[in-house]
This record gives sequence, C-alpha cells and structure tokens, in this order.
Amino acid sequence: MAPDAPRVRFAPSPTGYFHVGSARTALFNWLVARQSGGTYVLRIEDTDAERNREEWVDGILSALHWLGMDPDEGPYRQSLRTNRYHQAIDALWDAGRLFACGCTHDEVIARNKSAGILTPGYDGHCRDLGLARGDGRALRFRTPDDGTVVVPDAIRGDVEFPCSAMDDFVAVKGSGAPLFVLANVVDDIDMAVTHVIRGEDLLPTTPRGILMWSSLSDLGWTTDGTFGEAGAPTPALPAFAHLPMLVNEARKKLSKRKDPVAVESYRDQGYLPEAFVNYLGLLGWSPPRDEPEIFTRDQMVSWFALEDVNHSPAFFDVAKLTHMNGEYIRAMAPSDFVEACRPWLEGDAAPWPADAFDAAVFAAMAPVVQERVTVLGEVPAMVDFLFCDTPVFDPDSWAKSVVGDDGAPAILAAAIASYESLRADWTAAALHAATLAVAESVGRKLGKAQAPIRIAVTGRRVGPPLFEALEVLGPDRTLARLRDAAGRLAAGDVPSA
Ligand code: GLU
Ligand code: ZN
Repeated sequence: MAPDAPRVRFAPSPTGYFHVGSARTALFNWLVARQSGGTYVLRIEDTDAERNREEWVDGILSALHWLGMDPDEGPYRQSLRTNRYHQAIDALWDAGRLFACGCTHDEVIARNKSAGILTPGYDGHCRDLGLARGDGRALRFRTPDDGTVVVPDAIRGDVEFPCSAMDDFVAVKGSGAPLFVLANVVDDIDMAVTHVIRGEDLLPTTPRGILMWSSLSDLGWTTDGTFGEAGAPTPALPAFAHLPMLVNEARKKLSKRKDPVAVESYRDQGYLPEAFVNYLGLLGWSPPRDEPEIFTRDQMVSWFALEDVNHSPAFFDVAKLTHMNGEYIRAMAPSDFVEACRPWLEGDAAPWPADAFDAAVFAAMAPVVQERVTVLGEVPAMVDFLFCDTPVFDPDSWAKSVVGDDGAPAILAAAIASYESLRADWTAAALHAATLAVAESVGRKLGKAQAPIRIAVTGRRVGPPLFEALEVLGPDRTLARLRDAAGRLAAGDVPSA
C-alpha cells in the first residue's frame, strides 16, 4: 500500500439499530478507500457507557458484513482507549487550553437571561477564575475570541464559522469522561485518518474538532503508534466531507421512531444486500449522466467522487428501494434465487413444520415466484399452500370471494368434475383450458371464476399464477382441497374471523 494512500474511517456510536444514514456513510467511506487503494477503518465510538450496548456493536458488525463492507482495519474501540484521552486532557490542561467550570446548565441559562442574551451558549463565566480540576467540574475548551475557523469541505466548499459565535465548549464531563470531539480528534490523529467523511449533522462540531486538532499540534502532541510509529508529530488536518441529511417523504429529517431506518429490518424483510448498497449509493450521489441507476459495486467504485456528492437533503424513498430490490430479484439466476430464499423457507421462521419443506417442489414453483416478489420475505406466503397440510384460512377472502359469491358452489363443482378428468394430463396449460371452460359454463370471465378455486386451494386471494400453482401441487391435493371447500360451503361450515 502506498505510504500516502488515504485512510478513511467509519465511526459509529453503538446506541441503537444500524441506521440507513450510517450505512450510507459507511458506503461512501468504503468507496473512497476502494477507489484509492486506501484503508477503511472501523472505530466504535462507545465512550457513552449509558447509551451504548454490546448488542448494538454486534449489530454494526453484522450489518456491515451483510452489506459487504467489512472493515480493512479495526474495529477499534474508544472504550479501550480511555488512557489515551486522559493523556490528551492533561496535555491540553497543562498548556492552558482547557479550564475548569463548575457552572450548571441552569446557572448559565439564568445568567444569559438576566443579561438579555437569548442564545444558549456558555457565557465564559469561569474562563479566567483559575478554578482547579476535580470536584466534579467540567473542563471547557478555550475557543479563540476572534478569527474564523474554516472547514474545507469537499462537498460544500469552505464553510466558515466565526469564533465569536463559538462558545467555550465542554470537552470533558464533570465525571472526567472525555466528550465526543476530544476522543474523536485524538483517535483521528492516532489512526492517521486522512479523510473525515460523515453526516452533515456533525458539521457544527467540526470547527471545534479543528481547533482541538490545531491546539494538540501546537503543543507538540505526538501519535501513540495505533497506526505507524509512535511519537510522530500530529499530522496535517484531514480532508472533510459532510454528507447530506436523509429525509422522509415529508422532507423532514428521518426519524428513528417514525421512519423505517433500521438496516437490520431491511435485511430481515429480504432485501438483497447488493440492491440495498446500490440504493444507498443514490442517496446524495448519482452515476454519470446517461448511466442507469442500477449499477454494480465495481461501477460505483470507479465512478464515485466525493466532489460529486450533492449537498441538498436526500429523500430516502422506501418505495423506490423496494422497486429496485424487485428488479435485482428478477435479474438473479434462478438457482441463485432459490439459494437466496433458503433462510425464509428452511429456518425456524418458515410457517410450516421443518420436515414439510421440499426443495424440489419449491424449485419447480420458484420461477413464477421470482417474477412476483419484491422482497424475499414475501416468498413464504407465495408457496405456503405447497407445504402446509391445509391452506391458510383468510376469513376476508372467504367472506368476499367464496361465501359471498353465489356462483362459488357451481364453480367449485364444475372445477372438481373437470379437473378429475385431467389427472393423466396435469399441466398448467390443460388446467388453464379446463378452467376457461368452467368459467364459460357459469357465464363468468376467467379471472372471476378463478377466485373461489384459488382461495380453496391456496387460501389466498393473491399469489402465484393459479395454473402453475395447481400443477405443482398435483391432482390429489388440489382435488382434496376443492372438495373440502365445496363441502364446507354446502354445510355452512366456514369459520369466521
Ligand atoms: N460517532 C459519531 C456518530 O455516530 C460519528 C463520528 C464521526 O464520524 O466523526 O454520530
Ligand atoms: Zn463556568
């Protein structure tokens, strides 16, 4: 690897399900590493013991694995680097860059209010009091009184933050625990990060990080050897890129509670990782003009440029993602589709007893299923009639299309008689022709006549094409189900909801 190859990092905090915005951030970092021969580092920012849980760390690792974005290096864990942050705190304290502050939040607000200041920031009360460390006092970073911090952003150009608008922010909590900016900057230095690519929500903290970085550099701070040799001087500032916010249909920031943002849930519903990654790539970026929106990972690697990322909010459009997933499913080789369906069909989650599943029967049905599902999680309901002893019972479908259809008894009776004579020629084509004749005999269009047959046999109003379904199910089970339904209907023995 070239000595100056980029080093990017994905630095999630394990505070919940893996958010689609995080997945997009991981992808854009991964792309930069892949296209430049660089290194993509994973760092778990788990300093906040109250909000972090081990299961969320596992969730991050398994989601990245699912997306095909395992880290090249790491995971590093901030919780294991506490000593290092304390070294930095001591160095900044000794150099006078931090001061102790015992003010409570309410005290600051009250003082600001009585001074007629409506902005929430810290008023500098303890700045020059020379308070000692300890006694539960927070440590604040002394920001310059004037001047401007410029964030050179690959996506937005130079973003300027006047120092006069920046307060002396808390870098270390009263408990002694380092806060985000401090740990983040110390790590980026030790890990020799060259590009900080992250969500726009963190842009307001970036000038703080830049000030912290410069202070450490000024005071002769050296690296700890996490990457490269220990004792190297603080490197130059990394490049920055703040990725556009993701919004919902109402163009509001995605909400963890209201919007479907957990990557895990897309995996569980049967989205394909390749489709998901393709869609993530469109959140703030698009392929070169005239190229389709469906592209391979390799194409994305070769086309992607941070400079081409858009800065306006990106709509996370679940319908579009789902549509795209359907296209990916239909483009699969049939044998790959069958293979990809296995977890939904063979696991404990399958809606039939484990020994009822027959892979050959599924393989016979798979081509028509593949044409009709948009996510793999829809597959079991398409084929459960093949593996369950009796079809599912959907009261609504029965009420509407069997009990509620006064032609149903005649249709079922005619179908039974007609299908009996097909036993020796049980093919979708023959069943189709026979059912057309049944429809005609009762004065119905084919579609209308099919409904009671479909519900009697599959239990559902929608599903795979009926005649292919009957062919695979075979004459014995088809006829038994038709007779059973006709019998129940005649006897008025239809369970209600
Ligand atoms: N840990 C931060 C977060 O999850 C991101 C830090 C970074 O990318 O710099 O929001
Ligand atoms: Zn104070």
